[in-house]
Amino acid sequence: MARTRSIKPEFWSDEKIGDLSHMERLLFIGMWTFADDEGIVKGHPSYLKSNIFPYDDKLPIKDIENAIEKFSKLRMVFKYKNNGQNYLWIVKFRIYQRIDKPQKSSNPCPSIQNLEYKKLIFYRDGDVCHLCHRITNLDPKPSGYPFSHTVEYDDGLISSIDHIIPRSKNGSDFPSNLATACCHCNKGRGNRSIEDFLKSNGTFQEGSKNIPGTIKDETETETETETETETETETETPAERDELILATFLFEEIKKRKPDFKKPSLKNWAMEIDRMMRIDNRSPGVIKTVIEWCQKDSFWQNNILSAEKLRKHFDALELKSKGENIGRNKPDNRPSITENFPIDVQ
Ligand SMILES: [Zn+2]
Repeated sequence: MARTRSIKPEFWSDEKIGDLSHMERLLFIGMWTFADDEGIVKGHPSYLKSNIFPYDDKLPIKDIENAIEKFSKLRMVFKYKNNGQNYLWIVKFRIYQRIDKPQKSSNPCPSIQNLEYKKLIFYRDGDVCHLCHRITNLDPKPSGYPFSHTVEYDDGLISSIDHIIPRSKNGSDFPSNLATACCHCNKGRGNRSIEDFLKSNGTFQEGSKNIPGTIKDETETETETETETETETETETPAERDELILATFLFEEIKKRKPDFKKPSLKNWAMEIDRMMRIDNRSPGVIKTVIEWCQKDSFWQNNILSAEKLRKHFDALELKSKGENIGRNKPDNRPSITENFPIDVQ
């Protein structure tokens, strides 16, 4: 059943959208109206063509197939099969859409064992832990590592998947119930509720709009009604968090060398980093890597003392940092080396 969907203004300025033909943009938007509230849509090209382009007899089915491939390469959709049927999960669906009263998905869920699915959850979440709001590789591996649903990359980045409603409490593997977590938080939380975990950590804020895990799972929505304001918070919050985390990270790296460095307006720095992500299409993981690198480099550490300078010289910094980190690829395209499941912390 088709549903009414909305288009956020940012959609049009997204550079990935700019790389698509007009037909591809229309197909992508059309997919939202046939997707369920998880952002999952039946993925057979003939199904999509007949529903989204019913009057376009001359549109070759091959063009739809090619467009789906392109969406997949651009990490806009995740393709998977279940019982021989094709499905697509629209990766940033919940960011594009505000869902007032999410309905339970009528489509099968992607397999949590699928490495690409897990990587796309990290990508969707900007490699930021939903519990401590830090980029996931800042700490050494916790004792007991590795445990379930962790992924370790060549560059040492470790992310894990946390179930917002734990599996032991019948939490699903649908994307709205999965969130990126650092291994420390994931292990520390165990089967506790997010609220209990944050309270035990001393980081729970009563009435906070930024409490992680406010993404409603379908099991919750049967008894709860989300207001539009709450849903807006849910979809806007991750982007707001990334830029502030990175601005703070840059400030703290500078302070390591110069403890009396005057505190800048972190809000202004965050706005500049937001531009780097939205307009320049930099991922939070790459920005973090470049900040780390430039603050260690004897020449650049004295030149990059603001987010503005970071943005201005970003291409040069990224190239230089790559030259000195052979094998360190963009987090968005990281090769995986290991996947471990010996202990289940969920
Ligand atoms: Zn964490």
